[in-house]
Amino acid sequence: MVKQYAVIGLGRFGLSIATKLFEAGQEVLGVDVNEERVEESHPYVTHAIIADTTDENAVKSIGLRNFDAVIVAIGNDIQASIMTVLILKELGVPKVIAKALNKLHGQVLKKMGADWVVFPERDMGIRVAHQLLSPNVLNFIELSKEYSVEEIKIPEKMVEKSLRELDLRAKFNLSVIAIRRNHQINISPSPEEMINRDDVLVVIGKNQDLERFANMG
Ligand code: ATP
Repeated sequence: MVKQYAVIGLGRFGLSIATKLFEAGQEVLGVDVNEERVEESHPYVTHAIIADTTDENAVKSIGLRNFDAVIVAIGNDIQASIMTVLILKELGVPKVIAKALNKLHGQVLKKMGADWVVFPERDMGIRVAHQLLSPNVLNFIELSKEYSVEEIKIPEKMVEKSLRELDLRAKFNLSVIAIRRNHQINISPSPEEMINRDDVLVVIGKNQDLERFANMG
């Protein structure tokens, strides 16, 4: 289903969100106070307009209230980011996603009513460190502080065994929810499934158990 999105702030962060949504066939309005940024964004958005979103009347006239979600990708000008979120929520935009530069900025955005606050630099830093600490982990989703889903390259000593033989549930307290092999995904693999070299297991469990398994060598 096509949804209407607006991205305010067409820097690297905002433009990469806008491009991805646009490529997925969604309607994307790009907004920036800087004319050059607006010009450059034309190939990557459905429409793009120049506006200062700290001006309530300007925001009203764009009609952002009717969008499914608005992403506030203004970072460095913290005051502009906070005021924009406040105006959007006061107007009744149902879903406002905002980028925060630091913890305090994030807390203020939440107080202003942001529905989802993202910390791109912090999160990317965590991802890079995670990748360095556990090279076998190709990707991960944190479900909570304690639990994650991870894509783990199968350790060498585990190849050519079935899932039943590996018995990750008993040995590591982990559940295999899928196997990725040559760009194909086998969901809910049977216990008799043999694990090949270069297979990637999609595994769910506690972070410490995932770490133990991923670092088996
Ligand atoms: P990025 O880190 O995403 O590359 P950046 O470093 O270019 O961004 P930011 O300060 O985060 O700079 O601003 C992102 C964009 O937000 C800029 O293009 C800027 O013109 C735009 N912007 C800043 N203030 C406003 C505002 N009040 N209304 C609309 N757009 C704004």
